[in-house]
Amino acid sequence: MITVNPCLPSMPNSYLFAEVARRRKNAEAMHRERRLISLGIGDVSKPLPQAAVRALHAASDEMGAEATLKGYGPAEGYAFLRSAVCAHDYATRGVTIYPEEVFITTGAKETVAQFQWLFDRSCIAAVSDPVYPVYAETNAMAGRAGQWNGQEWERLVYLPCLPENDFMPMPPDQQADIICLCSPNNPTGTVMTRSALEAWVRYARERHALIFFDAAYEAFITDEAIPHSIFEIEGAREVAVEFRSFSKTAGFTGLRCGYLVVPQEVSVPTPDGSPVNLNALWKRHQDTCFNGCSYPIQRAAEATYSPEGQKQCRIVIESYLANAAAIRKGAGAAGLRAYGGINAPYVWVETPGRMPSWDFFDLLLTKGGLVCTPGAGFGPHGEGYVRMTAFATAEDTAEAMDRLLALSGSFPA
Ligand SMILES: *Cc1c(COP(=O)(O)O)cnc(C)c1O
Repeated sequence: MITVNPCLPSMPNSYLFAEVARRRKNAEAMHRERRLISLGIGDVSKPLPQAAVRALHAASDEMGAEATLKGYGPAEGYAFLRSAVCAHDYATRGVTIYPEEVFITTGAKETVAQFQWLFDRSCIAAVSDPVYPVYAETNAMAGRAGQWNGQEWERLVYLPCLPENDFMPMPPDQQADIICLCSPNNPTGTVMTRSALEAWVRYARERHALIFFDAAYEAFITDEAIPHSIFEIEGAREVAVEFRSFSKTAGFTGLRCGYLVVPQEVSVPTPDGSPVNLNALWKRHQDTCFNGCSYPIQRAAEATYSPEGQKQCRIVIESYLANAAAIRKGAGAAGLRAYGGINAPYVWVETPGRMPSWDFFDLLLTKGGLVCTPGAGFGPHGEGYVRMTAFATAEDTAEAMDRLLALSGSFPA
């Protein structure tokens, strides 16, 4: 008799954004005269850089001619893109990463999910809290998170990110084997300092743990002192892998391209103690489970590294960062405490009077026609906050801040 993986039907059934969409639809139906403004968007809104569009066209033409057709590519990605990643994302920051250590993927989300396959169910996973829900949920699907008790996963270690620790998760006293860190963080929009990352590398080395480092937003870092990669930290090559994506840095959310870096030095034992080279293991996994990211998209990704592509990406990132600054300012004017938004396209806004995040979400939605994302959806320590994103237009962002100010009189003290 066929049975399902028992971890899947026990997942909490309402995924955060589905619930947001449901409430949004209700509010729209009740106030047809009013235009909703969404600062809930976790997706880019500016078009692709023209350099990438041109590369897509040219590669499509190659696919249309017998002499230049590309069929299945290497599962780990084309050499031209792996080398470009090493040269532009790492060498420029003084970090040596070899092309053999870069695996091109169709995006960070699916890569995080598939990477879970490589580790034993008995491993203890720790997640920054709050964070992108994919980390907790893919560990849960892999059988490592235990039961969902309505608030949290019973077997996950939550690493609280709060104003008291500048929203930087700290190594726990207990053992964690898989450590999920995200800097700049989604949803808090805050970053981890070099010394915080050093503490994690030290912990991982002492505890024989592995850091999953999500650097999807590294291109938004404006503060010179903040590392863009975990591999800027000495000793990280033995204990970390890094997930990156062209989604937010170059507007590829609809094209799908990212990569995973697995240094040659990472060795993880089997349950009976024999060492396994993780790079080789992941290559073996990819050879069986993946047939590569498409050729035109890899060419488009390569084009984002050209001088023209870099300039076009910067312009878009600066415009999102300007929106983030406007949100910080607007939240402050409305009497709200706001964090993040300087090195990331997200602003983390404390709810007034310790209001629960779904209540504040409903207040902004029903009274102001303003959509944000309730912090509680990103983990237990997201309660008491909402996330506002910088991906709306500058005009909508300004209008949203006017509406926020107009509502501020009705906020509880
Ligand atoms: C958007 C996002 C990604 C990118 O995911 P893709 O699957 O590459 O589009 C990865 N990590 C975080 C934290 C994100 O917010």
